[in-house]
Amino acid sequence: MDPKKTSFEILHSDSRTNARQGVLHTPHGDVPTPVFMPVGTAGAVKAMPAEFLEALDARIILANTYHLYLRPGHERIERLGGLHKFASWNGALLTDSGGYQVFSHRELRDISEEGVQFRSHIDGSKSFFTPESVIAIQRALGSDIAMIFDDCTPYPAGYADAEASMELSLRWAKRCREEWNRQNNGAQALFGIIQGSVYSDLRKRSAEFLGELEFSGMAIGGLSVGEPKELMYEVVEYTAPLMPWDKPRYLMGVGTPEDLIRAIAMGIDMFDCVLPTRNARNGYLFTSTGRVLIKNAQYAEDQGPLDPNCSCQTCRRYSRAYLRHLFHTGEHLYAVYSTLHNLTFYLDMMRKIRESIALGNFGNWLGLMEKGGD
Ligand SMILES: [Zn+2]
Repeated sequence: MDPKKTSFEILHSDSRTNARQGVLHTPHGDVPTPVFMPVGTAGAVKAMPAEFLEALDARIILANTYHLYLRPGHERIERLGGLHKFASWNGALLTDSGGYQVFSHRELRDISEEGVQFRSHIDGSKSFFTPESVIAIQRALGSDIAMIFDDCTPYPAGYADAEASMELSLRWAKRCREEWNRQNNGAQALFGIIQGSVYSDLRKRSAEFLGELEFSGMAIGGLSVGEPKELMYEVVEYTAPLMPWDKPRYLMGVGTPEDLIRAIAMGIDMFDCVLPTRNARNGYLFTSTGRVLIKNAQYAEDQGPLDPNCSCQTCRRYSRAYLRHLFHTGEHLYAVYSTLHNLTFYLDMMRKIRESIALGNFGNWLGLMEKGGD
């Protein structure tokens, strides 16, 4: 195996579901899958020092191309030795392509065949992203995994609009692939992104076209954009088997612990979502006995740990009463302790899921959920 290249190995397949347990080999270490990738928007997971992430055994984090392009600029990061060096992150890095961020600021953008003109959400300055420039930006950042630049279809979208958007994404995918081939340094992998909104035949056409471009991995994009949850599950259940079996499958921007379990059962290997980190900062904490809204008065004099079954520093050292106090007084430390806990919850859950797939009892997780888990 070439240590400088990204490759994927499936070690165990669940007999009763489509869940798989594998390992993603990257130039910056091995990543056991299924994996949840903490979101490090501007090259930092909010409130989390890299050494905390290392202590959590986080092997891969996500960074946002759009944000780093705006500040401090990909060329500056390249001059400073690339994003790994700049952020002193020795684990693997995946960069999104900015398609979703450009999509989120819809009032600020203008799409053409060539690319997308958009205004910075910071100072209103104009920029133009093309499939080629987005590949070049990610190359300058030096991530281990780059994503193609796509048009993220909004929800709801009529069939004709979804089809036109999906087809534009396919033409851009081809341009991304060609640009990536031109700039290929052998170290960075490129993943395709399946679009097609909630229409199964569009998802199928997208998956088939992208399959022929032979990306190193495949993602499902355009979900978690406002569609009903059950519809999201339907699209994932339909689309996952259309993705190459022997490549990593990544469901972008999803989601809750329940979403992860259900999507893993459908054969998804990789996830990212701002939920654990953003919710932590907003006072919404995930625990083994259900959610804790730390601002609530019931915790004002609660001397117990946030989660008695969690081994994170927050739970080992601080009480619910103290965390509630930090939240109410707006102490910066609150974000650190709450994020540490929520990420521990997510990464512990993923580790246990991987173990259960390897041991052949992943089905227990689905059973737990049907009994009304949180
Ligand atoms: Zn904890």
